[in-house]
Amino acid sequence: MLEDKVAIVTGGTRGIGLAIVRKFLDNGAKVILFGSREESINNAISLLRNENENYEVTGYCPNLCKDDEVAEIFKSIVDKYGHIDILVNNAGVSATTPIEEYTVSDFDKTMDINMKAAFVCSKEIVKYMKEEGKGVIINTSSMVSLYGQPRGVAYPMSKYAVNGLTKSLARELGKYNIRVNAVSPGVTNTDMVSNLPKEYIEPLLKTIPLGRMGEPEELANAYLFLASDLASYITGAILQVDGAAMN
Ligand code: NAD
Repeated sequence: MLEDKVAIVTGGTRGIGLAIVRKFLDNGAKVILFGSREESINNAISLLRNENENYEVTGYCPNLCKDDEVAEIFKSIVDKYGHIDILVNNAGVSATTPIEEYTVSDFDKTMDINMKAAFVCSKEIVKYMKEEGKGVIINTSSMVSLYGQPRGVAYPMSKYAVNGLTKSLARELGKYNIRVNAVSPGVTNTDMVSNLPKEYIEPLLKTIPLGRMGEPEELANAYLFLASDLASYITGAILQVDGAAMN
């Protein structure tokens, strides 16, 4: 479904991002994964190459909030492959801090990686997609962007912003044949969830009509669909993949 496409996936070293990288590779794409540390990038690439030595996958760890660092890497990717077709803004951190305990620096950290990084990467990719006359941007939102959450207010705030970025860029970039969508995961079986307190997660699981967490691969299927030509008339959508949690 993605033969000859070049895709960048931020936060591609584990969890949902790694599942997206694998899914895109399995569907013929060349993938560049971004992570926060060189070691985790190398581990992810070795894992994938052990699964399939023909996977065409490389990785970088730019500061995603620094436009000059991101721009330099995007340029080197275009110099190598000639084009970038798909950008997945997936890197993210969560929080469950009560409001009185929030430091401004913790707030900034969450907003930077979840919101500002998606803005910076989108801003820097657009000129290449315009030159190609097409492109796909997929942002990772969250079910809490629709319902809020009882603690850790910066996290849902950042994901509401991701929805705003998605809907607005879809309007701004549609005339260039650049589609911009978001996937809104529910509770998904990754480190992000296993790091959260049990008393926070267990009540959430009880609200899910499908009766379980989502698996990263089930999320990755939605990204594949949105990245592919099957979604050629879909832009500005926030696709919920959450087992109808909290509906
Ligand atoms: P995860 O913690 O397993 O992975 C997070 C990824 O983000 C990692 O690859 C990590 O390297 C990257 N990252 C974190 N901080 C970074 C930084 N400062 N710079 C660069 N990269 C950084 O989490 P996950 O569950 O796979 O989450 C992926 C996305 O899905 C996030 O945007 C998250 O908000 C969203 N999400 C997850 C869930 C869930 O239940 N797991 C639910 C809703 C939304």
